[in-house]
Amino acid sequence: QIVFVPKEVDANEPRVAASPDTVKRLTGLGLDVIVEAGAGTLSRIPDEEFAKAGATIGKAGDAARADVVLKVRRPGDDELKGYKSGAAVIATMDPYGNEVAVAAMAKAGVTAFAMEFMPRITRAQVMDVLSSQANLAGYQAVVDAAAEYDRALPMMMTAAGTVPAAKVFIMGVGVAGLQAIATARRMGAVVTATDVRPAAKEQVASLGAKFLAVEDEEFKAAETAGGYAKEMSKEYQAKQAALTADHIAKQDIVITTALIPGRPAPRLVSAAMVASMKPGSVIIDLAVERGGNVEGAVAGKVVTSANGVKIVGHLNVPGRVAASASLLYARNLFAFLETMVDKASKQLAINRDDELVKATMLTDAGKVVHANFANAAA
Ligand code: NAD
Repeated sequence: QIVFVPKEVDANEPRVAASPDTVKRLTGLGLDVIVEAGAGTLSRIPDEEFAKAGATIGKAGDAARADVVLKVRRPGDDELKGYKSGAAVIATMDPYGNEVAVAAMAKAGVTAFAMEFMPRITRAQVMDVLSSQANLAGYQAVVDAAAEYDRALPMMMTAAGTVPAAKVFIMGVGVAGLQAIATARRMGAVVTATDVRPAAKEQVASLGAKFLAVEDEEFKAAETAGGYAKEMSKEYQAKQAALTADHIAKQDIVITTALIPGRPAPRLVSAAMVASMKPGSVIIDLAVERGGNVEGAVAGKVVTSANGVKIVGHLNVPGRVAASASLLYARNLFAFLETMVDKASKQLAINRDDELVKATMLTDAGKVVHANFANAAA
């Protein structure tokens, strides 16, 4: 059976859904792999490396022969037209708010899997694209902040005087936030962090940063069974803003990463808070593509506020470290696909009762099958 790996069509997407390592593993399972020419170029994987690993280098039209398509982003209508009905498509599907696109995949007859719905259980850790990509985004956020900040991050005691350490505040300490804390600490910054989940407190402390949060009854119940945050009440958000406002005014760099699955990102930094910061301070909004944590952040732009604070809203931050991100992403997809290949017959054999399949399958046999999108009928 044929696995096809296209070049991503989105101009903002330099990542690719396979690596030489995963091509080798896929062919090892008895699958034929076709990689579209140039698919890996922006991730520093030349066609020859894919070929050496056992892939055939092909063209976009080869999608028509594929039983499985591995992608970074959800296929658009033009791509879907080229797919075989019944093909499995594995990608990050960004389905919330995109119900029409989900229905289009059902109509095209593809079996679509949303990698971001992978349950966070031990067995699926190796398939967790949110973690593998958020980890790199958290790292890159600090690198971007350091590049925009026209002072040094670490304290430097020199013969010519002392440069103070930068104060960095991380808002939202899931996977990205934890990596941002670790990276900022490695660069010598003085780091504080906040979150609405109690579990975050200990994790922040274990990385040597100071935790700051409104720890009321609502905070104690803010974590869902899946480990994610709930949307907090208006009252909590007001208390949170009051607590963080004074703190933000004293920070040099603020990195926000707060997300709530299926909901717009919570607004954590108001225009007044931005106005309270010193000129030359930097804010990185990693949630900008989900509506943003920061008032005034613009997706895809670095804007400077009236008082000289840079607000960075880069798109696709994992894509800014594409060569690393692709390797991890490719391995996540391989691990999932491997569970769906029958070792003896070397055929795709999707077990629709498997909890990983149930959690991630969006469309199947012409229908939208995921419980969260029951209304997105084809
Ligand atoms: P996420 O990307 O959904 O959100 C980022 C962070 O924003 C979260 O920590 C969330 O609590 C926080 N947040 C939401 N609203 C906020 C607000 N108003 N103020 C401040 N912070 C707010 O989260 P994630 O990175 O996917 O991680 C979610 C959880 O899953 C974490 O506990 C993480 O450790 C856990 N996790 C578990 C596994 C596993 O067990 N396999 C793998 C990865 C992550």
